[in-house]
Amino acid sequence: MEKSSADPKFADIEENLKVIRQNIADSAVESGRNPEDIYFMAVTKTVAPVYINHAISCGIDLIGENRVQEFLEKAPDLNLNGVSPHLIGHLQSNKVKKIVGKVDVIQSVDSVSLANEIAKHAKNAGISQKILIEINAGSEYSKFGFDPGEVREKVYEIGEIDGVEVKGLMCVAPICEDKAELIKIFSNMHDIFIDIKQKKSDNINMDILSMGMSGDYREAILGGANLVRVGSAIFGERIYYDRH
Ligand SMILES: *Cc1c(COP(=O)(O)O)cnc(C)c1O
Repeated sequence: MEKSSADPKFADIEENLKVIRQNIADSAVESGRNPEDIYFMAVTKTVAPVYINHAISCGIDLIGENRVQEFLEKAPDLNLNGVSPHLIGHLQSNKVKKIVGKVDVIQSVDSVSLANEIAKHAKNAGISQKILIEINAGSEYSKFGFDPGEVREKVYEIGEIDGVEVKGLMCVAPICEDKAELIKIFSNMHDIFIDIKQKKSDNINMDILSMGMSGDYREAILGGANLVRVGSAIFGERIYYDRH
């Protein structure tokens, strides 16, 4: 195969994608599902467009960014043709206007007021914004999201709002060394997902259960995830820089 660039990171990304795809396929089969039923998202926060585009050229068709500003800055340099961008980071209400309609799905809806704000701007733009409802699974990383005990009720409340379309649930799991315990945490999320899915409602389509990151995507799939969000296992450790 011809190598057009000497940057060793391109080869790393290719190799990492191959390994992760195989792990996803194995975990899917182990959980009694088809590998094609699991969406594989590349999380691209802090990653330069040249590497994101390389992942896209390797077949990645789903990307997740955490910050509105970072996504909007990088988007003109991304080959987004046929690629679905999602927002996965906490969204402040004053940033809603900038992102509505720019991403296919806002995964991090963690309050009814945020859903209302999204709906307002979506209606102004003449669209319906797809969203996921974030559950607080007790993660040290994400203090955001609805309590598991209140999420059902809130999903129905948000489902009544014109301008948003609920497509599923997302969560960030706590750090947990015990794999079995971790799978149990993910399975509990899956139970909530199925519970809501079974009570059919007009504006609610429980299609996506987004959970699992670089350290726990296999356990997430075993627990029932059908979308995993993987960043550092593809692109390497993130280098954080001060953003003013
Ligand atoms: C950063 C991030 C990820 C990916 O994290 P990795 O551990 O690098 O795979 C997934 N989901 C959310 C919400 C994130 O913020």
